[in-house]
Amino acid sequence: MAAPSMGGVSLPRGNGQTVRLPRGASLTDLAERINAQPAALVTALFHLGEMVTATQSVNDETLQLLGAEIGWVIQVVSPEDEDRELLETFDLTFGDEEGDEEDWSSRPPVVTVMGHVDHGKTKLLDAIRDANVVAREAGGITQHIGAYQVVTELEGLERPITFIDTPGHESFTAMRARGAKVTDIVVLVVAADDGVMPQTVEALNHAQAADVPIVVAVNKVDKEGANPAKIRQQLTEYGLVAEEYGGETMFVDVSAITRQGIDDLLAAILLTADASLDLRANTEQDPQGVVIEGKLDKGRGPVATVLVQRGTLRQGDSIVAGDAYGRVRSLLDEHGNKLKEALPARPVQVVGLTSVPRAGDTFLVVEEDRVARQIADRRQARIRNAQNASMRKRISLEDLDAALKETRQLNLIIKGDNSGTVEALEEALMKIEVDDEIALRVIHRGVGGITKSDIDLALADDVIVLGFNVRAEGQATELANREGVDVRYYTVIYQAIDEIEAALKGMLKPIYEEIQLGTAEVREVFRVPKIGNVAGSLVRSGTIVRNSKARLIRDGAVVADNLSVESLRRFKDDATEVREGYECGIGLGSFNDIKVDDVIETFEMREKPRD
Ligand code: GDP
Repeated sequence: MAAPSMGGVSLPRGNGQTVRLPRGASLTDLAERINAQPAALVTALFHLGEMVTATQSVNDETLQLLGAEIGWVIQVVSPEDEDRELLETFDLTFGDEEGDEEDWSSRPPVVTVMGHVDHGKTKLLDAIRDANVVAREAGGITQHIGAYQVVTELEGLERPITFIDTPGHESFTAMRARGAKVTDIVVLVVAADDGVMPQTVEALNHAQAADVPIVVAVNKVDKEGANPAKIRQQLTEYGLVAEEYGGETMFVDVSAITRQGIDDLLAAILLTADASLDLRANTEQDPQGVVIEGKLDKGRGPVATVLVQRGTLRQGDSIVAGDAYGRVRSLLDEHGNKLKEALPARPVQVVGLTSVPRAGDTFLVVEEDRVARQIADRRQARIRNAQNASMRKRISLEDLDAALKETRQLNLIIKGDNSGTVEALEEALMKIEVDDEIALRVIHRGVGGITKSDIDLALADDVIVLGFNVRAEGQATELANREGVDVRYYTVIYQAIDEIEAALKGMLKPIYEEIQLGTAEVREVFRVPKIGNVAGSLVRSGTIVRNSKARLIRDGAVVADNLSVESLRRFKDDATEVREGYECGIGLGSFNDIKVDDVIETFEMREKPRD
């Protein structure tokens, strides 16, 4: 088949063959795969009404649209699939329990507490933590590491339960969105004095969508006006029928304040787990799990709380967690105790990673440091691409003129003290809407202080560096000062947003508006040797100002625009301005086509403030 020509550059047509591209690929990536010129693809896409540069990441629909146009089926590979393929190249898989089921050991349930705001999730998590007999005996102060384990006695056996210590749906859904199934059981907290509220229903929906059994904690039963029976009644409408009413859901009346019912709640969790789940894991395989929380610790560097899901994590293991990797230097539990190993469902703080992974990232232990590093590097590159694709504002074009105008871009590097705030800040910044002409782009983000390499990156690309609760380290400050890199520090998100918004506005090209200065009527035309025609005029309105812009109007039509008042005289003298009601001579430079009764309109272009 002959190659069709688009915009003069040839484009190889496909015959419906499939090309696989990672999400966030650019036209250059596509061009490489189908052996085409990137410019031809840019043109083809432009004809479809989208203007992108060759190296810019393009979203899924656009890639597919373009593919259809040029005869290729474009298969955008999801990050999950891509990651699976990446791991496969190292002969690794995530998520599969290995070995013979008979060898697996039972493991504790992992619980997430959800419910409407103010119904007592945080208090309940506190109460449960304090109810932990073992912790009290250990005498350690419980630290918040994102998850903790308590041990409770059931039918003469001491049994642990793991709680995710960040209440709310966000963490639950965020983890699920990243494909991490962490929660075995949801404790749905409903305040007995308030009843089922919107977020109660939302939590319930999330849990049911994830097919996770629910235990209902009817909280605040100590309060006057508490009506636990009403809660049971209300929830039947959502398919949660209490056991005592013949249903399958356990409801437990509790008070996070008086601590009444906490032991019963723990028992209900275990009974529900035993009844509906078969929680077992292989403790012998290479350990895997999920990151619950990541932060940068001043003394210890990157610290991640991980939940081991299978295998036994040990000190010295080579680990890759999301795009972070390292060797496990130490494992700490929520009491700050050093552990030698962590079994399935055990949350532990891992020290020894080179950077901070994000909540919801999965972790794997691999044979060699080198493998961990390679996986982390590849993931880092992919995350960058994908983020660029979703963050870059699509520029839609109305006409060719606008298409040719170059879009200006404000580049940012965001560094912060933990992954949550960095993500929150990035998300908030990306919501700033200023103008289609200006795109905001985050070229790098990370947890930790601002380093020399951040500044180097900033130098290359004309960037503002934002430090959120972090500072520039060592030589970075010096380099930034010397090279004049704009580094700004914030501790409040809103302040950062305000300033970046102002910076974006500052980048906008000024808008000018025409301000009328004055009009003059031509009474007589003088020929002045060497100068040309001069209009002997009467100022009709406003003021005629020398050097102002002018246009000539004859019989109501503009004869000439783009003129200027090059000379202005009153009688024999030069004047800078002449007011209404006075006569003057106006010279319009080389423009000589002036007739009696013409009107000279003068104006200036003034910058219009943006709102
Ligand atoms: P969250 O938004 O669901 O995390 O709710 P909190 O745990 O922050 O609790 C909200 C408010 O309810 C706080 O003022 C708590 O002191 C109060 N509260 C929580 N549990 C109880 C309880 O069992 N009894 C009483 N009387 N107040 C409670």
